[in-house]
Amino acid sequence: MELRVLFKYIDNPDQHKIATYISTGGYKAWEKVLRELKPADVIDIVKRSGLRGRGGAGFPAGVKWSFVPKDSPKPKYLVCNGDESEPGTCKDRVLLERDPHRVVEGMAIAAFAIGAHNAYIYIRGEFAYPAAQMRKAVQEAYDKDFLGKNLFGAGYDLEMAVHTGGGAYICGEETALLESLEGKRGLSRIRPPFPAVEGLYASPTVVNNVETLANVPGIITNGPEWYAKMGTEKSTGTRIFCLSGHVKRPGNYELELGTPLSYLINDLGGGVLGDKKIKAIIPGGSSTPVLTPDKLDVHLDFESVAQAGSMLGSGGVVVMHEDTCMVWAARKLAHFYMHESCGKCTPCRMGTQWMFQILDRIESGKGCENDIELLLDVCDKIEGHTICPLGDAAAMPVRAFTKTFRDEFEYHIKHKKCMTINRMPSFT
Ligand code: SF4
Repeated sequence: MELRVLFKYIDNPDQHKIATYISTGGYKAWEKVLRELKPADVIDIVKRSGLRGRGGAGFPAGVKWSFVPKDSPKPKYLVCNGDESEPGTCKDRVLLERDPHRVVEGMAIAAFAIGAHNAYIYIRGEFAYPAAQMRKAVQEAYDKDFLGKNLFGAGYDLEMAVHTGGGAYICGEETALLESLEGKRGLSRIRPPFPAVEGLYASPTVVNNVETLANVPGIITNGPEWYAKMGTEKSTGTRIFCLSGHVKRPGNYELELGTPLSYLINDLGGGVLGDKKIKAIIPGGSSTPVLTPDKLDVHLDFESVAQAGSMLGSGGVVVMHEDTCMVWAARKLAHFYMHESCGKCTPCRMGTQWMFQILDRIESGKGCENDIELLLDVCDKIEGHTICPLGDAAAMPVRAFTKTFRDEFEYHIKHKKCMTINRMPSFT
């Protein structure tokens, strides 16, 4: 069964309006925080809930907040990362469009916890409607005095603004996002220093994903124990999984962490299109290593998916059935990362081009005998040698496809043609 916590009211057509959000208990957590809690209490509650970042890395949110130096004389900033661009992932968009006040409230509470008086939401450039919904929500929150000066008479001020992104995948990487937010080209920064110490305008900054922050009001209202009871010991709560590819019922499904992958695909997704066999599954967005059908019963939590050889990532689950060409799928991914590389560091800028060129010639029947080894060598030269995680994100799936389905790559090279025929709808 789905466990709808974030999605509890998502099908309500008026949920985006502040009156409806308030009628379902909205902004009560914000009031409680300002009237009863100190910033350290909020951080402690979120730490005890076990909430981990939903953007990809899965870092504990409360721990991240505690890294912000309390004695810094500089202003502090809270930034919500709504630059959702990972192929196969489309969950933040739904929250921004349909339940924007949950995001505003989560941002406000997080800002208070880290001592910030300015919060920004950075929304993917192509997300015109979600940005419009968020702008309306922020204005409504100002009109109700949930944002602005001396909130709830507690002497705390908070300003919030919506910023639309630069239209590039790299702007979802937190340091590139901060560059873009400052009005510069979205290029990643070398770390350290980390944003918690030197982020926006060289000041302490926390960057959290939309889904992460949307969880915060519920944790404050219901308590950390309520949240920690859901999911597994180390992966608490629920997660929105975006199911796509060769399934009968693609869509966003909210599940308790630790639910078997097979339940998501077969029970909620209705099984595979045409009742064909599964060949491959991307479990956490396009940058995560592909899994084979023998991993279908893996539990969807951070630890179990890692043990199975991949990552939970951003929650984008892409199913490919038996007729899908794995060389073609790897080439499509490589093309995406080549296109999105910002070009700042050589291993990623050149390596993603070389990966694509090699895969392109293998797929088109022009592959050479040593191309597979060459491809794997390029992956090795990229991974761990770049400024930001995009390099790893590009190399990991290509290596996994090549190693896991090596027979298909060899067939392409030897026979100059594909052993399968189909194309994957979600990637075309
Ligand atoms: Fe840019 Fe790629 Fe280097 Fe990241 S890894 S900084 S995207 S060139």
